[in-house]
Amino acid sequence: KLHYEAYHDQLTGLKNRRSLIKNIEELDSLKTKGKVALLILDIDNFKYINDTMGHHFGDLLLKKVSDRLEEICEGDCRIYRPGGDEFIILQENYDESALVEKLALKILKECTQGYEIDCSKLFISISIGISLYPEHGDSLNALFKNADIAVYKAKETGKKKIVFFNKVMNEAISERVLLEKHLRAALDNDEFLLYYQPQLDIETNTVTGLEALIRWNNLDLGFVSPLRFISIAEDTHLIIPIGEWVIRNACKFLKKLHQQGHEDMSMSVNVSMLQLIQDDFVDKLMMILEELELNPECLELEITESILMESYEAIAAKLEILKCVGIRIALDDFGKGYSSLNYLKQLPITTLKIDKSFVDTILAGDMDKSLTDLIIRIGRTMDLCVVAEGVETKEQFDFLSSHKCTKIQGYFFSKPIPEEAVMKSIKMKKAI
Ligand code: C2E
Ligand code: MG
Ligand code: MG
Repeated sequence: KLHYEAYHDQLTGLKNRRSLIKNIEELDSLKTKGKVALLILDIDNFKYINDTMGHHFGDLLLKKVSDRLEEICEGDCRIYRPGGDEFIILQENYDESALVEKLALKILKECTQGYEIDCSKLFISISIGISLYPEHGDSLNALFKNADIAVYKAKETGKKKIVFFNKVMNEAISERVLLEKHLRAALDNDEFLLYYQPQLDIETNTVTGLEALIRWNNLDLGFVSPLRFISIAEDTHLIIPIGEWVIRNACKFLKKLHQQGHEDMSMSVNVSMLQLIQDDFVDKLMMILEELELNPECLELEITESILMESYEAIAAKLEILKCVGIRIALDDFGKGYSSLNYLKQLPITTLKIDKSFVDTILAGDMDKSLTDLIIRIGRTMDLCVVAEGVETKEQFDFLSSHKCTKIQGYFFSKPIPEEAVMKSIKMKKAI
């Protein structure tokens, strides 16, 4: 019994990490090794499932996934659960790598069918990284590291994917490790700053709002785009303190603007799902507003559409509370994800931000094809403030203006700029 417990995972009954290491060592010591494939399966966004539905729910899901894997894998396949939301499959003696790919595809398909748990149906996706012996390393031990890199690549390029390791990947990974290392110290070293992008109200032709956009300036790395580091900050949960820093500093700046006579100015701040689901998120936010004596109505939280839709159940109640205290909520990057109209109807949002990709379709002479007009009409019918993002040209501006979009934001009017520049430009209130 002790032996069994030492080599098996309690929750799923699958072989555990110790077992995996032992098996790899045994295989490695064989003089004539056959082909071996190592597949790492990782459940996408499992941290959200655990954080929002509870660990018991997460455990039930892991058990169901493991049952499904046992049904799919047969023959020379061994399944392990080394820990967390990761599963590993070792496949030996296959004829060609196409067969490994076939197995991975089958796993991807079967494991993403819905799961009935505690009377609700949950859909998940998984990412799979694969490395092969002898193609990808001279020892079986190298397979671990390489499959890890491949699964990381699968996540980075959009999840729900199968990725085979290749040597070029090594470089990209070292970059991520480097970023993560520096990111951990960035807040203490005071390396973040905020830029602000003005939002122009089309009807009144004045700047009525600013979007705070974080910038990271590191001594070794230089300026790092948020597109590169926000996802790392989320994976490492660093986004929670960083996000709080953003809210506090954006609000401080807003207060300064109000004190200088721009009382109508509002501030939009991007927030990540992980911040929102913290139990004390609303309290902390209210504390900052009270400390600074700011009206909650001049703060807007921007939440990315795809994330909001994925985790609707978990945060709907939170959003209602925020709306009740008067904080505005914007659906960011609208049009980029699934854009379910049904959700749009239910969500307590106040603003719709049309994604740049839609604004880009407004080409001179090609306006009929634009869906942007339709989105504006839907938004306005629902009494929402409609903001177009990434407006770069006069044609786009004229189109949006004539189709009654509420506000525009984009290089055509202004790039994101530092605090001092906002102060200067805001003096010229009539900007266009
Ligand atoms: P977003 O919230 O959709 O912000 C708009 C992005 O589009 C910004 O990129 C902005 O600089 C860029 N942009 C604005 N106008 C134009 C234009 O006319 N043309 C082009 N090509 N681009 C334009 P940025 O600052 O690199 O931020 C990228 C994303 O990173 C943001 O997208 C947001 O999702 C995220 N982000 C930025 N700051 C924060 C933050 O403090 N917290 C969180 N959680 N996410 C943030
Ligand atoms: Mg935004
Ligand atoms: Mg956006």
